[in-house]
Amino acid sequence: MPIYEYRCTDCDHDFALNATIAKSENGLDVGCPECDSEQAQRRLAPS
Ligand SMILES: [Zn+2]
Repeated sequence: MPIYEYRCTDCDHDFALNATIAKSENGLDVGCPECDSEQAQRRLAPS
């Protein structure tokens, strides 16, 4: 199961979701678990 990593641009919290949750490619509907912001941005996969 691939993991997508996100970073909240509001509080800089890093978190990860698996692909079934983070399946949206157009229009993220991912919320930050820390501050509930929807400004989370997907990060490139770590090497
Ligand atoms: Zn946040």
